Amino acid sequence: MRPRTDFAKTGDSSEDREDLTLCMLASGSKGNCIHVGSGIRSILVDAGLSGREIERRMGERSLAPDHLQAIVVSHEHADHIRGVGVLARRFNLPVFMSSETANAALSAMGKIPRLCPFQPGIPFDIPPFRIHPFNVSHDAVDPVGFTISMNGSQIGIATDLGVATGLVKQYLKACHLLVIEANHDVEMLHNGPYPWPLKQRIKSRNGHLSNEDAEALLREIMHPGLKHVVLGHLSETNNTSSQALKTVKQAIGEGGIAISVARQDRSGPILKL
Ligand SMILES: [Zn+2]
Ligand SMILES: [Zn+2]
Repeated sequence: MRPRTDFAKTGDSSEDREDLTLCMLASGSKGNCIHVGSGIRSILVDAGLSGREIERRMGERSLAPDHLQAIVVSHEHADHIRGVGVLARRFNLPVFMSSETANAALSAMGKIPRLCPFQPGIPFDIPPFRIHPFNVSHDAVDPVGFTISMNGSQIGIATDLGVATGLVKQYLKACHLLVIEANHDVEMLHNGPYPWPLKQRIKSRNGHLSNEDAEALLREIMHPGLKHVVLGHLSETNNTSSQALKTVKQAIGEGGIAISVARQDRSGPILKL
């Protein structure tokens, strides 16, 4: 962290000196929301809890809703869009999503002050952030993951995907902070209570990544610049934090990469790059 005297001396809050921060406000099948910030500017990636609960969790971490510039949406599933309409209207926020996702989500979101369609593969700016959406394989109309970069720091987010394709690896491999899915333990899913068709859906190319998949992905894409890995979208039925950590940690060994698990029921700490 910058010493306080630095502020006092220059009064400088220029964006090139600000940290890129990430806070997992919620992660899992009951709601997903990630806060990405830099100084007094921030965005939400997905808003899948109620607007009220997202504001409450932001407040807990001293994150001001007034600083939000936009909401960026990965896909139309309810656990990613539940609070989008309410927050967009309350804080007059533009909502960035692909056109196909917008068509699929519009009735659930209600009126949006400003809809900004993006195309997967084409980057766009919400200053000071550069956002690059990329296609992922999941059972939604046009699901994407994102990289978010600023001043040479890069975050990668991919939490609803059935398979880590070559394209996904391409986007995630240069990131300094990764939020990746570790949805289920293969054994727990297999022996668990879900009906067979649902187990099949989760395991399919359009479903969710297992702990084992996350471990294999990380093994392939980790690099010396990778500082932190957050495991997300854990199933409350077919996984545990300790099982996910144990499996995925095999990829990184005793190296210097921090690894943590995002929770469904409460926000995580603010991570800085
Ligand atoms: Zn989801
Ligand atoms: Zn989904």
